[in-house]
Amino acid sequence: MELSLQALAERFGGEIVYPGEAYNITFSSINTDTRAINHGDVFIALKGPNFDGHNYLDVATRKGAAAAIVETPNTNLDLPQWCVGDSYKALGELGLASREKFNGKVIGVTGSCGKTTVKGMLAAICSLAGSTVATRGNLNNHIGVPLSLMRLANEHQFAVIEAGTSGPNEIKYLAELIQPHVAIVNNIMPVHVEGFGSVEAIAIDKAHLYRGLVEGGVGVLNVASAQQPTLLDALQGKKITRFNPELTDEAAEVRVQNIEQDTFGRAEFSAIIEGEEVELKLGVLGAHNVANALAAASAARAVGISVELIKRGLEKYTGDKGRMQLARVNEKLTVIDDTYNASPGSVKAAIDYAAQFERSAIVLGDMGELGEMRNSAHEEIGRYAQQKQIKQLWCTGEASRFTAQGYGPHAKWFEDKEQLKQALPMLCSSEVVVLVKGSRSTRMEQIVNALLASG
Ligand code: ATP
Ligand code: MG
Repeated sequence: MELSLQALAERFGGEIVYPGEAYNITFSSINTDTRAINHGDVFIALKGPNFDGHNYLDVATRKGAAAAIVETPNTNLDLPQWCVGDSYKALGELGLASREKFNGKVIGVTGSCGKTTVKGMLAAICSLAGSTVATRGNLNNHIGVPLSLMRLANEHQFAVIEAGTSGPNEIKYLAELIQPHVAIVNNIMPVHVEGFGSVEAIAIDKAHLYRGLVEGGVGVLNVASAQQPTLLDALQGKKITRFNPELTDEAAEVRVQNIEQDTFGRAEFSAIIEGEEVELKLGVLGAHNVANALAAASAARAVGISVELIKRGLEKYTGDKGRMQLARVNEKLTVIDDTYNASPGSVKAAIDYAAQFERSAIVLGDMGELGEMRNSAHEEIGRYAQQKQIKQLWCTGEASRFTAQGYGPHAKWFEDKEQLKQALPMLCSSEVVVLVKGSRSTRMEQIVNALLASG
């Protein structure tokens, strides 16, 4: 959207410092990184623990930035600067101003697990119905959301915006910027408990996406999610589309029937989408993606997209890097790369997936950000894997000692990834499906790469 720097300064405060005479500055693109800046962009100088964008104002000037947004101006430069108290807040204000000019439909996606997946499914569906902007990668925080909103333009009909959180009131802030027509809270699970203190606190924050709905907007509710009362409280007086990802009788406008899975766990099922029945075969693995597909279908229907396009979009989507990506290395070895991240809910989903193979192994790194639940959550994962009869459990990392303990004496725990790598030939000596997972910081993709190279 084209924005005017003067109008922003008038609305949100702060002062514009011009190198010469005052003049009208309009722009439609902002940049936080001078390496990627283009002529006519506005550069926003952000400060973090290890960087300060203010050090690059001269580079922005040289590269033809139209102006900069700064906390401290550098008046020696030939660059107009909007001086604000807090650049991060100003970034949000830009996102808000862009969102307010947008005439298309905005779908906001939050939840504990599966946000990026649901966003990807929705992007695939919406692009079949019209021009669509969707969050790039996982840019879902107080920086990513405004940047995504700034990409909105008049030619777009749909925006799919992912909103993530690691502490209280983050979604509240993001919801006020996104102002969704449709809001999805995909599920509530113990992720980032460290920042929140409890699962209920997580629900309270995520429910703010519902509270941020525009007048007449629709809340998409997972009836199988934890903390229903909190979610319903935020939905009071609002339109609701409920989806039920389980084969229970719980009433819902969007439901599933007859779930089957092919050899590698791609779900085939029929969905009832507001009274219309449709057969679906997903391109992504695992039963949990049935839930994600229903969430996406509910939201797509709420913005008026036909069931036929919903089916085409869902079947087209093949997933994102590091999320249940399947590689058949050779006749004996199949690897599932789920190394993007790990939390108790998503590790259980991965175990459920691996459990369907007669010969499966899971290789786990630690799950991060669990606070006081750290040890017990890891132990429970080990017990869950044992209960689901996963044949082999290998793990590495301090917290994973507890995973091994929960699984029992046949678990294999390794000091570090190097030792684990050296033992991999043993794991691959006979036919096996190996699922690898761990929190982002554990970089378990190194194990995936070693397995792929072994073929
Ligand atoms: P982040 O908080 O990092 O942005 P996200 O919510 O965007 O995560 P995805 O990136 O889609 O989630 O998936 C992350 C992990 O969660 C993957 O391992 C995936 O297999 C698993 N997952 C995805 N959807 C679900 C679900 N509905 N229930 C449980 N686990 C899921
Ligand atoms: Mg994500």
